[in-house]
Amino acid sequence: MFEIVGAGPAGLSAALAARARGAEVMVHEQRANAGMRFHGDFQGLENWTSDTDVLAELESLGIQTSFDYTAVREIVCFAPDGSDHRLRAKRPLFYLLRRGREPGSLDQALKNQALHAGVTIQFNNRRRHLPNGGAVAEGPHRADVIAVGYVFDTDMADGCYAAVGERLAGAGYSYLLVDKGRGTLAACLFDRFHDERQFLDETVAFFRQAAGLRWNNAKRFGGTGNYHHPHGAVLGNRSYVGEAAGFQDALFGFGLRHALISGHLAGSAGSSNAYDKAWRRRLSALQAASLFNRWLYARLGDRGRNILIKYLIAGSDPRRQLQRIYSPAPWKSALSRWLPGQPPQPADSAHRNCDCTWCRCQRNTAGQE
Ligand SMILES: Cc1cc2nc3c(=O)[nH]c(=O)nc-3n(C[C@H](O)[C@H](O)[C@H](O)COP(=O)(O)OP(=O)(O)OC[C@H]3O[C@@H](n4cnc5c(N)ncnc54)[C@H](O)[C@@H]3O)c2cc1C
Repeated sequence: MFEIVGAGPAGLSAALAARARGAEVMVHEQRANAGMRFHGDFQGLENWTSDTDVLAELESLGIQTSFDYTAVREIVCFAPDGSDHRLRAKRPLFYLLRRGREPGSLDQALKNQALHAGVTIQFNNRRRHLPNGGAVAEGPHRADVIAVGYVFDTDMADGCYAAVGERLAGAGYSYLLVDKGRGTLAACLFDRFHDERQFLDETVAFFRQAAGLRWNNAKRFGGTGNYHHPHGAVLGNRSYVGEAAGFQDALFGFGLRHALISGHLAGSAGSSNAYDKAWRRRLSALQAASLFNRWLYARLGDRGRNILIKYLIAGSDPRRQLQRIYSPAPWKSALSRWLPGQPPQPADSAHRNCDCTWCRCQRNTAGQE
């Protein structure tokens, strides 16, 4: 029996792969359904870290793309100097999908595939240990990045917008995604978590003015992410996958692809040793490059970010430019080992029954863990 803790993308991808090699598979999920860490918010499945289209890659891993998605080829990007730029790519930059418990979301599609393949999922079953080994896919352990925002209904035309600048999101960025009458707006923060409310208010005001944001039934949401250089993703007979292993895009937080791939590698490897070799081959250099990118991006300041956006539109295809930025290199891998890690945000003793996204007081209206 191959046991997995966590029915997120990494855990369910591991379950599908383990099932495909003939193992009996049991997934333990602490919540009542898959995707309950999320709130119907849009996320982007990035399509720039390889030439292969990410949907084709998923199909080749045995993951059906049976979730609802929209291919996004164009983003309007706002630079700190107030200029706006259309990034138009020849092939999709990313695929917009929904997270949560609704039909058509990534989480429900993966769950249904796993159940159909014969995987057993025990919901409402928090698991601390895997004495007989298996895969740990519990998601983030701490907040290195947070996203705070709103999901809403809207009569706006479909469109994807991103904005960078210290005022809006510190060393992070803000985004607005609209598709078929629904929208997600958020500030994605890598520092200054204490200022999350201020950043969110600035982000709302900015998109009202710059993109004509209009909404109904807006609901707050938020969540955390966890990234680091995993010097090891194996402990004894346990394979750590997805964000539980620190696999996450440290530059902009596009961790889904890492989660699905690392899950697949762990599920298809017959042992934790085989997984150890597999993740190092496939993910280690990519993760190192993203850590290097984050370190650099945090130091750019607004003037540097203006230049970055000009770089993205400089070539004939912004997808290629992103691919260059994200491409692994031996020197990035070497440097990433020496970079200072993200200091954990201090748990503030004044936080009692607060609604902030990142602290550990365990109660928050944003609805995340
Ligand atoms: C607001 C927000 C926006 C994001 N936007 C994007 C985006 O646009 N593009 C992108 O690529 N990525 C995005 N990400 C990151 C992406 O969501 C994560 O990288 C991805 O979900 C990680 O998958 P995972 O399976 O590792 O973890 P999770 O999705 O967190 O799943 C972990 C699961 O394990 C369960 N669990 C935890 N502990 C236990 C336990 N002890 N016992 C049983 N079950 C347990 C949890 O309930 C959860 O269901 C975003 C993240 C957030 C928070």
